[in-house]
Amino acid sequence: MTRVFNFSAGPAALPEPVLRQAAEEMLDWRGSGVSVMEMSHRGKEFMSIHAQAQALLRELLAIPPNYKTLFMQGGAIAENAIVPMNMLRGKASADYIDTGEWSRRSIEEAARYGRVNVAATSKGSGYTTLPARGTWQLDPEAAYVHICSNETIGGVQYHFTPDVGDVPLVADMSSEILSRPVDVSRYGLIYGGAQKNIGPAGLTIVIVREDLIGHALPCTPSAFDYAVVAEHDSMFNTPPTYAIYIAGLVFQWLKDQGGLAAMAQRNEAKARLLYDHLDASSFFSSRVDRSCRSLMNVPFHLKDPSLDEAFLKGAQARGLVQLKGHRIVGGMRASIYNAMPLEGVQALVAWMREFEMQHG
Ligand SMILES: *Cc1c(COP(=O)(O)O)cnc(C)c1O
Repeated sequence: MTRVFNFSAGPAALPEPVLRQAAEEMLDWRGSGVSVMEMSHRGKEFMSIHAQAQALLRELLAIPPNYKTLFMQGGAIAENAIVPMNMLRGKASADYIDTGEWSRRSIEEAARYGRVNVAATSKGSGYTTLPARGTWQLDPEAAYVHICSNETIGGVQYHFTPDVGDVPLVADMSSEILSRPVDVSRYGLIYGGAQKNIGPAGLTIVIVREDLIGHALPCTPSAFDYAVVAEHDSMFNTPPTYAIYIAGLVFQWLKDQGGLAAMAQRNEAKARLLYDHLDASSFFSSRVDRSCRSLMNVPFHLKDPSLDEAFLKGAQARGLVQLKGHRIVGGMRASIYNAMPLEGVQALVAWMREFEMQHG
């Protein structure tokens, strides 16, 4: 068996100890005689798995008691609709900050349910920076302000929590959730699909302040009404049981690693290694503004794009996979989520050095 270093943007690499434990427990979960996949979601075994995952998530993020954690389905793209359906709360419009492909998708979808005010955009920069907070044209009457805290495709990340006054801040954190500590109390709602930095695709995490729940548009499907989901403890419909189980194992792994502060340090060290190499090289480059470079998704370009294929082929041969950049940005992209060890980034930088020697 050979495991490679998987730089996929998502579904992405999982911690190897988690996969090993899941393999061990595959046929017989802790003496139950069944796989987690075969359990009733209302049985005591799965209820304990579910409760443990919820408790660990709350502990890792130090989620205040006046927030609900919901385990939903449909991914962040479904939340692009579910958020306005639940969060407009009879108000006329919502503010959105446009910082790249994922916030653009959020804006397009939200506009089907209410009036969207694009309060700031970094489109003019080719989405290589964030619009300065001082330029945001926020509406104090807005239902909420929506940001994408880490643009997975462009590689742009907020390294601060924007102050938006009393208007609830809503963040799509799909590609950075649990990569660092977050002051949840600064947000009205945080959401993210699990398949980047948590676990298998199919599970969506929503963390929402209680007082914002209970105002869904009448047309909202019951399974997507936060009040209904919260009231049924995320079991209104059959939850993605196996994805929740794996997420719980990842949460435990994160706790064993020292929690989110320790993960943040490791993630910073990994990203620094890669960005330092990009900045020192005249052969490779990062186009993203230094103030907002993502610690999770690192797009980079070769000076000569005709060498892209050779770079990728050599990387593959060295067990460094999924480095091809998103078609919108081109070049390469290394996604270095929690589960990517420092050794993976070291191996990538070593290959970059070797390749530059051959071709530079
Ligand atoms: C991947 C991603 C999405 C899309 O997630 P789905 O699970 O496909 O719905 C949305 N937003 C961000 C920031 C992402 O990284």
